[in-house]
Amino acid sequence: MTDDGAFRVIAADTSETVRGALAVQHGQGDTARHFADLLTAAVLFRETMAPQLRVQTIIKGVGGLGSLVADADPSGRTRGLIQLPPGASGIDVGAGAMLRVMRSLPGGRVQQGVVRVPDRRISDAFMVYMQRSEQSLAVVGIGSVLEAGTIRRAGGYFLQLLPGASRQSLVAMVARERQLRRFDVQLTDPDFSPSWLLDVLLEGLPFTHLGHSQVRFDCWCSEVRVLSALATLNRTEIEQIVKADEVLDIACDYCGKPYRIAPSQLRGLLDES
Ligand SMILES: [Zn+2]
Repeated sequence: MTDDGAFRVIAADTSETVRGALAVQHGQGDTARHFADLLTAAVLFRETMAPQLRVQTIIKGVGGLGSLVADADPSGRTRGLIQLPPGASGIDVGAGAMLRVMRSLPGGRVQQGVVRVPDRRISDAFMVYMQRSEQSLAVVGIGSVLEAGTIRRAGGYFLQLLPGASRQSLVAMVARERQLRRFDVQLTDPDFSPSWLLDVLLEGLPFTHLGHSQVRFDCWCSEVRVLSALATLNRTEIEQIVKADEVLDIACDYCGKPYRIAPSQLRGLLDES
């Protein structure tokens, strides 16, 4: 936070997180880039607005076809999903694509909002979201560098304008806005790191470092969660699976971890329902 109380910045290097998620999801080209941006934005949004809550962000492609999901939990674990439209090799986030941002509140409630994705720019969608749904002005820079089909670097920042901002610091930041938005330039700098990025963004403004946290690609699936997902099938469907008397092989969509569910475990579900 700047010492005058005008700005708060969260900066992140999400290269490893994005690489881990993409290794399971197999997105390519623009789809991989958008997926990387969404994961980075989910991490930054959570740290900025809801560090103690789980945040899920979803982009629905044009015409509701295909989706990208990023899921970030308070411990720093982050995972994602790429769901392509049938027969398509990528997802179109052009005019008509929508961004949904959800956070899980205590007691099972969910707070959420939806905005359009302007001009294929996920960072801009989050700026609009911050303004409309959070009544907070923020400059958002997000990007990734793809090299030979893999993510060389991914990261970004949320620079939030605080209510105490003076007119003077506001003018200074507006003057630099253009430079701030050219995030692809900063991302390819050999010195890139979150703290380096803070120095660049707040150049000349005295600020205090308030803290840091780790993010990583990791999934929180478990056999119990797989079973509870199966429990949402209707009774007839479960009965059919039990009748077939075969072990179900199921892989987690987020991380690919395999689960083997025995008929006896499913019979347990029938007894409960
Ligand atoms: Zn998993």
